[in-house]
Amino acid sequence: RTSLNTDAIKVEERWCAHNYKPLPVVISRAEGVWMWDAEGRRYLDMMSAYSAVNTGHGHPRVLKALVEQAGRVAVVSRAFHTDRLGPFLARLCQLAGLDGACPMNTGAEAVETAIKAARRWGYRVKNIPADRAEILVAEGNFHGRTTTIVGFSAEAAYRDGFGPFAPGFRLVPFGDATAMEAAITPHTAAILVEPIQGEAGIVVPPAGYLKRLREMCDRHNVLLILDEIQSGLGRTGRWFAHQHEEIRPDGLCLGKALGGGVMPVSAFVARRDLIDMFVPGNHGSTFGGNPLAAAVGLAALEVIADEGLVERSAELGAHMMARLSALNSPAIRAVRGRGLWVGVDIDPAFATARAVCERLMDKGVLSKETHETVIRFAPPLVISRPELDWAIDRFAETLDGM
Ligand code: PLP
Repeated sequence: RTSLNTDAIKVEERWCAHNYKPLPVVISRAEGVWMWDAEGRRYLDMMSAYSAVNTGHGHPRVLKALVEQAGRVAVVSRAFHTDRLGPFLARLCQLAGLDGACPMNTGAEAVETAIKAARRWGYRVKNIPADRAEILVAEGNFHGRTTTIVGFSAEAAYRDGFGPFAPGFRLVPFGDATAMEAAITPHTAAILVEPIQGEAGIVVPPAGYLKRLREMCDRHNVLLILDEIQSGLGRTGRWFAHQHEEIRPDGLCLGKALGGGVMPVSAFVARRDLIDMFVPGNHGSTFGGNPLAAAVGLAALEVIADEGLVERSAELGAHMMARLSALNSPAIRAVRGRGLWVGVDIDPAFATARAVCERLMDKGVLSKETHETVIRFAPPLVISRPELDWAIDRFAETLDGM
């Protein structure tokens, strides 16, 4: 590595908390699906910042909305109305087929908002005794990093040293609808799951899983809340991953790509009786729903719709899946995913996923391992077929050369 890159890494390591282990690359510019390091070397982005960059880096329409709105008014807090928030949330709710939304900033905040809404609904509507509401969650879940959320993670590294944790959550194996139904009690307010588990390694549940969750929630008067912060907004080849099973959740957490790849924008979107659990004074966020975020969020939704990115994700995703599945390398244990979102499970006897990512980086393709063994391929949805093929060719070469 040359000195500009090494120096930047040294300064960052010196001053930044070591809560991540980035690949040794220093990004200084990006456009569309491409990123450049401090020395001008070019890389294809197969990560999309954990799906925050579905519309690509610096999309002209997103940038136009960002700059124009920043020049008009950016932040007023929710102490006042703005002319941007309504149109943004109207479009979002129409897309989701839900009735109202609470705007927040980060994904974890959208999940916290969902938890608060679900618990209050449990007491006010379902008549669960005070402070007894329970939320069922799935093993392998990733919903963010707040103390409440890591408290119901099954991952020791996320929890170790951060307790005591909030009660009121129960872990159930992911993908097992029978186990989920068995865990429901009269105190269950909600089931909260990712339709496909992202951080766990792009884990796809058996077909019919979400449909069965929907049915049991209806039967037992339990809310179905889906965290589509990573899977939503076109990533899986539908607007929302739950649409593959033609169901509708009662509440939906969105984030990441909602910010158009330029800023944090998230929301909890829900049916009327659930979103109405919020009244003046019981929930909020200084920055949530600010006009800059709303303008950018609306632009991001319009780009995804107008450029056919959902259809593109379905089509190119099927192509990526077919090509990766055909690689036939002894290093590959499994290939799974949906749309432009595929996890390749690497046999640890062959190499760590990290080592593969480092070799790929040297060939000009950037991805990142999740856990020890899975490489995630999730390019911006604006990627072209030749660009995607180029990345897959580099991956095939990498495996051949190891
Ligand atoms: N939920 C899911 C499914 C996620 O993948 C993530 C982030 O990876 C989050 C929630 C947390 O989002 P944030 O990092 O913006 O708080």
